[in-house]
Amino acid sequence: MIDTSIDSGALAAITEPAPAARPRMDHGHALAAPAAERFTAETILALRHWTPSLLSFRTSRASGFRFTPGHYARLGLDDANDGVVWRPFSVVSSAHDPHLEFFAVLVPGGDFSGPLSRTREGDTIRVDKTSYGFMTIDRFAPGKDLWLLASGTGLGPFLSILRDPATWQTYDNLVLVHSVRHAGELAYRDEITAIPREELLLAQPAQLTYVPVVTREPWPDALTARIPQLIEDGRLERAAGVKLDLQRSRIMVCGNPEMARELREQLTARGFRTNRRVAPGQLAFENYWQGTPS
Ligand code: NAP
Repeated sequence: MIDTSIDSGALAAITEPAPAARPRMDHGHALAAPAAERFTAETILALRHWTPSLLSFRTSRASGFRFTPGHYARLGLDDANDGVVWRPFSVVSSAHDPHLEFFAVLVPGGDFSGPLSRTREGDTIRVDKTSYGFMTIDRFAPGKDLWLLASGTGLGPFLSILRDPATWQTYDNLVLVHSVRHAGELAYRDEITAIPREELLLAQPAQLTYVPVVTREPWPDALTARIPQLIEDGRLERAAGVKLDLQRSRIMVCGNPEMARELREQLTARGFRTNRRVAPGQLAFENYWQGTPS
């Protein structure tokens, strides 16, 4: 899902200080509503439920809406008090799709999740005209292998990145790791395996390795431990068929904030550094929430 909250601390670590106009992205906090001229009213075109609490939704896209894969949009839904509740959601769809797609988890009692759970096809959703974010491949110094490490709805931005021709042209190997509790949460499996066949990408299918991870039940073809453990004992590198390497690897992490914290610590201990404008590194992080359900 993309009930995404961006860890502003992590973002600050991979970029320059935020401009004053950039909204705060704590997922559990209400975002200031953009002025009317700053958003467009779009239509919910389709809803797809993966599990009772996981869903994707597709919206119309204003002709002027631009984003870089990895960016997030700010979405607004009517709340129960005649107001509008705004949340940041990473864009799942590709930059060349005519629509926008988002991936969300419904959090019980969440301010945004309530209206989202009642949303139906044809309903209106507001979309801020500006996209935001720093977890984009153009921020890395050149590398050979791109590792995309996701938990839960943190998968979302990586789907957009994987459908970007530049990703396939820039990297020899793409490794997508998706960690979920239960196999039913392995959303977009069929779409992921179909990505290399998209004509626009000019991809070699062998460039992409998809590594599903299911941590709370046995599942064929999935690894079964948390990502940091799989790195520690070498299972992830074996499954990916490539090594984590300071010169070759560029690593993006998106999802559970505690997982991101552990991976930052673990990979930093192995010599990897968070990417910064003034000091290129190999790591970029984005967290999806900060404790408070929304
Ligand atoms: P999750 O608990 O983060 O589980 C997803 C995967 O991440 C599982 O494989 C889990 O392994 C793994 N994981 C959890 N903590 C980890 C860590 N410290 N290091 C490495 N891997 C770790 O998330 P979820 O199932 O996607 O969502 C669970 C709940 O989180 C939701 O129901 C919702 O309440 C909340 N959530 C809130 C928001 C929000 O407020 N915006 C967004 C997303 C999720 P294990 O099975 O071993 O734990």
